[in-house]
Amino acid sequence: MRTLLLLLLAANAFAAPPHLAEKQAAAADIDANRAQLTALSDEVWRYAETALKETKSSKALADFAESKGFRVTRGVAGMPTAFVAEYGSGRPVIGIMGEYDALPGLSQKAEPMRAVIEAGAPGHGCGHNLFGVGSLAAATAVKDLIAAGKLHGTVKFFGTPAEEAVGGKIYMLREGVMNGVDVMLAWHPDDETRADTKSTQAIVDVTVEFFGRAAHAAFDPWDGRSAVDGLEIFTHAVNMMREHVHPSSRMHYAILRGGDVPNVVPEYGKVWIWLRDEKRELVDDMLARMRKAATGSAMAADVEAKVTINGGDWNMLVNMTGERLAQQNLDWLGTLPFTAEEQAFAKSIQRANKIEEKGLNAAVKPFEANPGPADGGSTDVADISWNIPTIHLSVATAPAGVPWHGWSVVACGGMSIGHKGMIFASKALAATMIDLFADPNNVKAVRDEFAKTSAGVTYTAYIPPGPPALPSANP
Ligand SMILES: [Zn+2]
Repeated sequence: MRTLLLLLLAANAFAAPPHLAEKQAAAADIDANRAQLTALSDEVWRYAETALKETKSSKALADFAESKGFRVTRGVAGMPTAFVAEYGSGRPVIGIMGEYDALPGLSQKAEPMRAVIEAGAPGHGCGHNLFGVGSLAAATAVKDLIAAGKLHGTVKFFGTPAEEAVGGKIYMLREGVMNGVDVMLAWHPDDETRADTKSTQAIVDVTVEFFGRAAHAAFDPWDGRSAVDGLEIFTHAVNMMREHVHPSSRMHYAILRGGDVPNVVPEYGKVWIWLRDEKRELVDDMLARMRKAATGSAMAADVEAKVTINGGDWNMLVNMTGERLAQQNLDWLGTLPFTAEEQAFAKSIQRANKIEEKGLNAAVKPFEANPGPADGGSTDVADISWNIPTIHLSVATAPAGVPWHGWSVVACGGMSIGHKGMIFASKALAATMIDLFADPNNVKAVRDEFAKTSAGVTYTAYIPPGPPALPSANP
């Protein structure tokens, strides 16, 4: 027993990270602001505003930043809900990103069973209320250390809207809002805690429209040309293509318009399709084949096809040097202190989802140097990672195995499980930023790796020209 204790003590002493005093100060700062931070997160959780409508959410975060002494610029890159908060001067310039958009239809109380607040209303099914506030809290702790003369340089928080739709970060990047940042950080709520060494999938978001000629479907169908015939041949071609793509390829679509009534030959059809794979080149290959399928389908049905690219994300360029810094800080913070009540709450949620009642993953995952291919899923953080070296981590804010983009994530994001994950993430992010501010060699090592891994790649965004169209207030 005694030997074990000594070994544990020795292991802990060994795990003490560099710049411990600054990291402890940042963690204490975050703890001191805990009530205000969780209140802010709950406020954004209650607003639950969807992409590019995050007016109250972005204002709450920007006002908080201003009250803490950041210089705040609102409405950047043509998006009213995008903003930048910065503090300090000179190099290094360390950036951190925060999201705050919700998802439609996921209204849910902070309770361990499906319980809607308002039917059809949005909810924070991806935990972005925690993401935004957690990142801003880390930036604030670092700002306080700069103000105290303990660190030198510039910290920039980027309020990045519309991750779930158009990918606001990509527009901010293109408009130069992120120019001059040496290293960028971000995190994401998850069902486990880790330094993210696995990439994410590249995706392209496409609309295919078909234009035919209307006619009476019984009286003179020979005068009509059905846009929906073209659409059906197209989706059939896409489904046949599935047999001849890489196992990592994903294609999924929704038919948005497929005729209105049976007795009119439809003159218009519209399908919305997403193509994903492990690398941008593979997505480009699929896109080229999909274009052929659209053209061929239109020819077969004697109609016209129009392909519009709405946007898309690259796959993530992982920076292993940066991830190792993050891992060291996650290990330093150690196991997440979930209580028995929180574990019971998590198990109730798992029971309601009919999945194994494992509770919450409280432990930090060991570093994965060879994590294998990307899981399904994409993010606009990936586009940043090809332009600025990016460090990304995930922290448990929801029970193991629950469906993401679902009510369980909303429920936990509005109570102590989510709050605890968020505070933990803030401390890990602040500690990792301290490693970069306090030691120029870390910035250099992260940037050197980035220079090597991004060499020879020309970055081009999928997004169309101009700022994204704002959704109408009354859709
Ligand atoms: Zn998300």
